[in-house]
Amino acid sequence: MWVTMTSWWLPLLAAPFAGSLLFVLVRRLPREVPDLWGRSRCETCGHALAPWELVPIASFAIQRGRCRACGSLISPDHLAAEFLAVLIAAAVAATGADGMQLWAGCALGWTLLALGWIDSEHFLLPDALTLPLIVAGLTEAWWDVPEALADRAIGAIAGYVVFRLLAWGYRWVRKREGLGHGDAKLLAASGAWLGTLPLPTTVLLAALIGLRLALLARVRGATLSAATALPFGPSLAIATFAMWLLRTWLG
Ligand SMILES: [Zn+2]
Repeated sequence: MWVTMTSWWLPLLAAPFAGSLLFVLVRRLPREVPDLWGRSRCETCGHALAPWELVPIASFAIQRGRCRACGSLISPDHLAAEFLAVLIAAAVAATGADGMQLWAGCALGWTLLALGWIDSEHFLLPDALTLPLIVAGLTEAWWDVPEALADRAIGAIAGYVVFRLLAWGYRWVRKREGLGHGDAKLLAASGAWLGTLPLPTTVLLAALIGLRLALLARVRGATLSAATALPFGPSLAIATFAMWLLRTWLG
C-alpha cells in the first residue's frame, strides 16, 4: 500500500480532479455561495452537470467546450485550472518528493493556486483557505520533520507579525491601505510551510514577481499609478511555492 502511495504518478492522476474542485472554490468562495460543495452547474443556464459531464479534460473535449443543455461556451478557465493543477503536481514530482511530502506539496500548490486566483479577481484571500493552510503546514512539519516544528511555528507567527508591521508602516507613510489582513495570513502560511529563514527571501521574491506582473499589466494596456491597487496575494503565492520547490529539490 505504502509503495503505491509513494508513486509519483498518483498525484498527476488526481491533479485534474483537484483542479476541477479548486475551480469550484475559485468561483464560489468569493461570492459566498451557500452550498459550496453543491452540484456543479452550467454558469449560463443552470443545467446541473451529471457525473459523466464532470470528468476533467475529457468532458470538455467531448462536448467541445459547450454546455450540453444550452450550447453556451463553458469557461475555458475551468480547463486552465485543470491543466495548472497537473503542472503543479508535475513540478512537485520533479523535485523528487515522495510519500507524504509529495501529497503535501501538491496540496500546498493547489491551495496557493486557488488563493492567488481568487485574490487576482476579487482582492480577497479567504480565511477559509489561508487558515487551514497554516494548520496544514504545521501538521506536515509535525508528521514529517518534527525537529523543524518549532521553527515552522515561529515562521508562521513571524510572517503574520512582520506583515502587519509592514502594513502599519505603509498606512502611516502613504496614508492609505495597501496591504491587507489576508496577505498577513498568507505570509503566516508561508512561514508554516517554509520555516523562519526563507521568509525574507520569499517576500523579496514576491515583490519582484509583483513588479514583473505590474509591468506586464502595463504592457497590456492597463494604466497604473501609485494609487492603483494590485493584489499581492498572487505574487506571494507563486514565491511561496517556488521556495518550497527549491527547498525540497535541494532536500
Ligand atoms: Zn447551459
